[in-house]
Amino acid sequence: MKPRPERCDVAVVGAGTSGVVAALAAARRGARVALVEATGRIGGMAIHGLHRFVCGLFCAGGDRPGDFLHGDTTLDFCRHLAGGDPAANAVRRGRVWLLPFAGGQALETCAGELLSRESNIRLHLRDPAVRAARAGDRLEEIELASGLVLKPGAAIDCTGTADLCRLAGGAVERPVAPAMAGYGFEVRGIQAPKADPMGLSIAVPLRLRREVEAGRLAAHLAFTTWEPGHEPGSGWVKLAVPVQSLARARDDAEAVWAVLKNDPAFGRGEIVRYLPAPLSRETGHLVGNYVLTGEDVRTARKFPDGIARNAWPLEQWTEDAGVVFRYLPDGEWHDVPRRCLQPKTGPENLLCAGAAISADSAAAASIRVMGVCMALGEAAARLSLDFP
Ligand SMILES: Cc1cc2nc3c(=O)[nH]c(=O)nc-3n(C[C@H](O)[C@H](O)[C@H](O)COP(=O)(O)OP(=O)(O)OC[C@H]3O[C@@H](n4cnc5c(N)ncnc54)[C@H](O)[C@@H]3O)c2cc1C
Repeated sequence: MKPRPERCDVAVVGAGTSGVVAALAAARRGARVALVEATGRIGGMAIHGLHRFVCGLFCAGGDRPGDFLHGDTTLDFCRHLAGGDPAANAVRRGRVWLLPFAGGQALETCAGELLSRESNIRLHLRDPAVRAARAGDRLEEIELASGLVLKPGAAIDCTGTADLCRLAGGAVERPVAPAMAGYGFEVRGIQAPKADPMGLSIAVPLRLRREVEAGRLAAHLAFTTWEPGHEPGSGWVKLAVPVQSLARARDDAEAVWAVLKNDPAFGRGEIVRYLPAPLSRETGHLVGNYVLTGEDVRTARKFPDGIARNAWPLEQWTEDAGVVFRYLPDGEWHDVPRRCLQPKTGPENLLCAGAAISADSAAAASIRVMGVCMALGEAAARLSLDFP
């Protein structure tokens, strides 16, 4: 027998960082929320182990982080994640401020704890949205793989791929030259005293670059980095993988490890896990009522319908250059206009939040960091409560 349709005020589809904050923000404003997630875990892309810092919470520059750029729910999430005031915990790397956190498991636990405090959120795990039905300009129903039908007053697409917008008839644009994806593996048993005096964060890329120059490794492996872990003697080797080579990511990782194993610091090291799959930085963007551009970001443009702020640089991952950062002026931010969350051809009670909002590839290279995705989720929750 088919389950009875479930009514809610707001359906949030996708429980990554944007979806979790969207659900919390809507619930804290009194809405009945359905939070739908395709997998069995909450936290999305950020829980797999590569992430150590929340980016996009503060403007660049200064001796100390300036004002927190986003709303109360994002601030509360970050405070819970960092175990204290984000501004007091932030660290400076180059020109930007980052909030360190204890890794994927900690993020998943933090999200789970905060969600469990809200009695008006119903969480549907392992149950992807597979169909969306419209009546004129309104989204009427979202059907999940289990057969459950949600009847929401408003919906927020936090799938990271604009999947719900696509199901509801919204246009989604595929990038012409998508950013390189991320892949990696965790290593334990590193002998730090045997490491090159310049430190592994410099020695690892340098060593691999030499192998690339000698033609013994594929060119993109020159962009591999080392990120120390929280446990002594542990860390992540992080690869940047061109989208056309995703199927070879594991072979690439093994080739990198074969080189690193010859280094005295890694000689007794062991790989304890590989990422389950490469993580795509860029899959598709909603075509919204406005397409945010790289120029809007870089020139810190303000909009009359601005609903969220961002100051993260354009962080572009290309096969030619690896990662290149292009900054906003120090102390500056740009607005994200409400129109970037509204599908141009989709129903009017549906908004997109997170990494797949309406933006060109250059702007997407900036707004996709976790801090901004959370802020977009929070903004979408606020807006969704205004739908009649
Ligand atoms: C390699 C790499 C490293 C990064 N490093 C950092 C970093 O250090 N710091 C930082 O701030 N940012 C980092 N980012 C960016 C950041 O992790 C992501 O862009 C951000 O977390 C995206 O959040 P999101 O909520 O938009 O989407 P996701 O985290 O992708 O969440 C989307 C969720 O929706 C679910 N979903 C998809 N389709 C459906 C459906 N039909 N029904 C139900 N559920 C669905 C997915 O299972 C997923 O859980 C990194 C990104 C990559 C790729």
